[in-house]
Amino acid sequence: MILETTPSVDQEVNPWQSAAHRFDEAASKLGLDDGMRKVLRTPAMELTVNFPVALDDGRIEVFTGYRVQHSIARGPAKGGIRFAPDVSIDEVRALAAWMTWKCAVVNIPFGGGKGGVICDPAIMSEGELERITRRYTAEIFEFIGPERDVPAPDMGTNEQTMAWIMDTYSMHKRHTVTAVVTGKPLNLGGSRGRSEATGRGCLIVSNQALARFRMRPEDTRVIVQGFGNVGGMAARLMAEFGYKIVAVVEYDGAVYNRHGLDIRALAAHSKETGSVKGFAGAEEVDRDEALLMDCDILLPAAKENVITSANADRVKAKILCEGANGPTTFGADSILQEKRVFVIPDILANAGGVTVSYFEWVQDRQGYFWNEKLVNERLEEIMVDSFNDVISYAEKHGVNNRIAAYMLALDRVAFAIKLRGLYA
Ligand code: NAD
Repeated sequence: MILETTPSVDQEVNPWQSAAHRFDEAASKLGLDDGMRKVLRTPAMELTVNFPVALDDGRIEVFTGYRVQHSIARGPAKGGIRFAPDVSIDEVRALAAWMTWKCAVVNIPFGGGKGGVICDPAIMSEGELERITRRYTAEIFEFIGPERDVPAPDMGTNEQTMAWIMDTYSMHKRHTVTAVVTGKPLNLGGSRGRSEATGRGCLIVSNQALARFRMRPEDTRVIVQGFGNVGGMAARLMAEFGYKIVAVVEYDGAVYNRHGLDIRALAAHSKETGSVKGFAGAEEVDRDEALLMDCDILLPAAKENVITSANADRVKAKILCEGANGPTTFGADSILQEKRVFVIPDILANAGGVTVSYFEWVQDRQGYFWNEKLVNERLEEIMVDSFNDVISYAEKHGVNNRIAAYMLALDRVAFAIKLRGLYA
């Protein structure tokens, strides 16, 4: 998994390999010894479960699920559960490590974990999904829990899935344990502000970047890729804050207005028609070219591997705010650095979601729920502190923001491991 050589273009489009290169670079800059590198690279626990589920037509199918706890050095493992046909142990492993670094960058008391079940939610009924979820939960029951490992939604799972996991876990425990998962419905122990937290986090770190460059939101042109949970919310909140969202790029096309799009109207249009295309008050532009148009902030919030060595030299944005996970490949990093693009790396920029998940866990354990104002204020405090931590680290060590974020995270986790000592 860890590569020692410069990646080829083929390799660079594997987000896990990109993360592995960045890990290596950060570990070298920190001067971590071989033993600590081994500890940080190796997941603490990996579980594979194969379990039978009855399908609606009466057939019995055996499903395979995973749960990986990469690190519990700083607190319980934290990370989503993915339902997808191509889930693999390698992917789950890599995503679990990614969660360790993300939680450490924002300094919340969690380690990193991830889970997945190989299945295709698109072709399964609600009943089949519920049975898979409950049986998977029963299989991993001993390994999760508020003090141990706290799952959350990811691709193919949602707040209903979390409600089923919480219920199944609670039935086994014989009492209700809301803090076993986050991303639950609001009236089952969910947190206010969770659904907009990742987009709000992007707004907060963009505001910080603007302050550094003495730029004003009114004069700042933003291009957003992905108009879903993260991108749609970031675009809405940024537009409300005064930013000019000049383009929104979706999988089937892109719309552009140099004076700024009416985001609420675009959201209504997209909800009604299922596409951003055909929106009055905007011109349609090519989806791939849109990312390379003149702007101040480029906010990829759709998928991985969008900025690669093949297009990085044509990025015109001054600031790259990574709403998505892994939108920039390792091969593009040095090109962006040469062009002096100010990168707000994914493990910082999109950490607003896991931060409010942490708040959900805290509220569940307190049995005391905060209003939205308090959630947002505390989110702002954590995101601003984390932004400043990363930037100071970059300046102090003379590295780019992404390597600084990895160094900060590795340093925090390594410090916890050293303090705890090795139990033998
Ligand atoms: P989502 O499914 O709600 O939205 C993604 C959007 O991107 C969709 O509207 C989709 O149509 C669009 N899209 C897909 N392929 C595209 C393409 N090739 N070009 C342009 N648009 C495309 O997903 P989301 O929850 O908003 O997640 C987006 C990214 O953010 C993912 O990388 C995810 O891992 C990351 N992320 C999400 C959260 C969260 O809280 N939801 C937190 C951290 C990171």
